[in-house]
Amino acid sequence: MPELPEVETSRRGIAPHVQGQTVRCVIIRQPNLRWPAPDELPTLITRRKILAVDRRGKYILLRFTNGAVILHLGMSGSLRIATRNTAIRDHDHVDIVLGNDKILRLHDPRRFGCVLWTDNPAEQHKLLAKLGPEPLSDEFNGAYLHRQSRKRRCSVKAFIMNSHIVVGVGNIYASESLFIAGINPRRKAGSISRQRYDALADAIKQILAAAIEQGGTTLRDFTREDGQPGYFAQQLYVYGKAGEACQQCGGVIKQVTQQQRSSFYCSHCQK
Ligand SMILES: [Zn+2]
Repeated sequence: MPELPEVETSRRGIAPHVQGQTVRCVIIRQPNLRWPAPDELPTLITRRKILAVDRRGKYILLRFTNGAVILHLGMSGSLRIATRNTAIRDHDHVDIVLGNDKILRLHDPRRFGCVLWTDNPAEQHKLLAKLGPEPLSDEFNGAYLHRQSRKRRCSVKAFIMNSHIVVGVGNIYASESLFIAGINPRRKAGSISRQRYDALADAIKQILAAAIEQGGTTLRDFTREDGQPGYFAQQLYVYGKAGEACQQCGGVIKQVTQQQRSSFYCSHCQK
């Protein structure tokens, strides 16, 4: 599943080709995505200029004067820049043809992604309105996490993976940031000190920033046929390493299930 760093890398990859361009036409080959792509989308954006390519959480926003297209890559979606000569593959569901003769193309085999429209202001759309802050923003810090967590009985891992608290902390990033911060994923969110939340917020920022940076350095050419962003092979401390030795203490990495997801941690390094 594309996580926040992959989505940000996609945004950066497509933006130079898309931003400032006028939409020439829209081709919807398969409207039945997670939610149906709106019939009126071509009418709404044809001959209009894409003012900006932004991201909120894992949503990419193409901003127009009259509203925004909201794109989500779901489980298996990807965006690429195609041309008229690029062969159309199975699962190439939506094309936005641009004034520079390039095509922003959504490919999504499992169709859990979406292409939606919202009138201004885009941030008030129901998918976006209740999202927590961006993890790399100043608004997201230890004080914020500490304040939000008081009286919460859920585990700290569930807490940081809740998109109403903060966006973009997927399962891998949650396990890894809790290891860096030395916090046991099963600890109750409401029982963790301000100081430890400072360390956790820093760890989340560090790990996401590193993944985005790595995406930038390995940024594949989004105009190529095979220019499909995949998972970033980050250096992982605990995720997927059950039974292996902890890189910090040599103890054995444990695996537990929380909210139907696997958590990995070192019980010696994480309290
Ligand atoms: Zn350890």
